[in-house]
Amino acid sequence: MSHYVERSEVLNRITDAIFALNNSWEFTYMNKEAAKLFSCTPEEAIGKCIWSAYPKEVYSIFYEHYLKAVQEQVRVEFEAYCPPISMWLEVKAYPSESGLSVYLHDITKKKGLSLLKEQHYESLFKYNPDAVFAFDLEGNYLSVNPAMEQLLGYRADEFLKMSYIPLIPAEELEKTKSLFKLAAKGMTQHYETKAIHKSGKVIDVKVTNMPIIVNNESVGVFGVAKNIMQEKHNKTKLLEAEKLTAVGQLAASIAHEIRNPLTSLKGFVHLIEQAVSGVNENYFTIMKDELRRIELITSELLYLAKPQAQEFKDERICQIIQDVYMLMSSQALMNNVEIRISGLDGLPAIRCVAAQLKQVFINLIKNAMEAMPDGGVIDIQACCPNQETLVIQVSDTGKGIPQELIAKIGSPFYTTKENGTGLGMMATQQIIHSHGGTLDITSTEGKGTTIHICLPAASSQDQGETGDKK
Ligand code: ADP
Ligand code: MG
Repeated sequence: MSHYVERSEVLNRITDAIFALNNSWEFTYMNKEAAKLFSCTPEEAIGKCIWSAYPKEVYSIFYEHYLKAVQEQVRVEFEAYCPPISMWLEVKAYPSESGLSVYLHDITKKKGLSLLKEQHYESLFKYNPDAVFAFDLEGNYLSVNPAMEQLLGYRADEFLKMSYIPLIPAEELEKTKSLFKLAAKGMTQHYETKAIHKSGKVIDVKVTNMPIIVNNESVGVFGVAKNIMQEKHNKTKLLEAEKLTAVGQLAASIAHEIRNPLTSLKGFVHLIEQAVSGVNENYFTIMKDELRRIELITSELLYLAKPQAQEFKDERICQIIQDVYMLMSSQALMNNVEIRISGLDGLPAIRCVAAQLKQVFINLIKNAMEAMPDGGVIDIQACCPNQETLVIQVSDTGKGIPQELIAKIGSPFYTTKENGTGLGMMATQQIIHSHGGTLDITSTEGKGTTIHICLPAASSQDQGETGDKK
């Protein structure tokens, strides 16, 4: 008897809950901690069947494990949540011939922390602006985050039935496969590749693949991917811009060098023309025409390289367009071209360099006239769809531009004309951009071309600029 008391004293002092069951599932022992968990006294419990107090249908996790321990005579360990006492328990059950001894350890705190941790990581996954995904070792998707759904257009449940292989274009597949294998072996990989969006569009992506290590063993691969289309686009734009500045500066210095000798040449040709007789008059006409052409090219080149730091002022666009109309109307008449203007009333002022905007409309009208060698109509329409923007469209009824060539317009020296410079549209675009506007071209071959220009109205631009102006 004293032996028994001693043992139960020891067991009672243990902070873990311990109880024992006989082969009919009846309690034969329960320490104080266990009694607390079961909210009864050991005396009340002893002799009662555990499943009458705690139905095995409800506590099936416990029942199944205990049954296994008893039937197979093996020790079982598991973790389970007990709703009535709101506790996570770590359970160890040891079978013996006379029944089962069970140890319960409260792991609610630990579990809570790891749940919290899980939520932390879950957020990193769910709210990551980069696409994040996990693969098994064969490259089948195990999970994807919302950014991944966005990136490639498939829903999460569609991904989970796929591997990455159909998503990579053929020419990139071998490389991607070998990098994936390296990552699966434990070596993190960073690389750029292409991926096929659900719509069929191929996008450039930057990918990181890293191993998923569990118990020192690689069990899969994590991936993080980012769309780098914009980045790539910006890089080429930047390169282009740099090239242009270099070319532009060179061109400007040459143009500058040409201008002075040109002035003397012009002067002397004029003098000779008057002083000399008996020379074919056509020669003079040709010489003067060619000189004018050189002058035109140098002045356009000079403008491009040095978009002269002229002052921006609030100006009325109707005045600018009317000035240009005055300037061009006689030339239009000669070419059998009618210039129509509409929508000029009540437009807001725009902040601009008037001389530059005039140059824009002169360039556009010149191009329009040159596209209509047999005459036609140039329609200049202005409107103001909202307080912030002004839209001006210049349309012609000329020969139009083939779709595939529209993108080339505005590249330096791109011209389809025998006497063209290929600089007019470039200067035009540059001026519009320096005014914070945009220029688009639409055209139908044989029907005509429309140049759409959007410019910010004066007040809206003021607001937009205050932030970054020093
Ligand atoms: P250029 O007029 O000296 O050729 P631009 O830069 O002004 O140079 O124009 C480039 C090219 O764009 C032209 O050669 C022409 O092929 C095309 N283009 C521009 N405007 C029009 C237009 N309104 N209709 C048809 N083609 C045009
Ligand atoms: Mg032109």
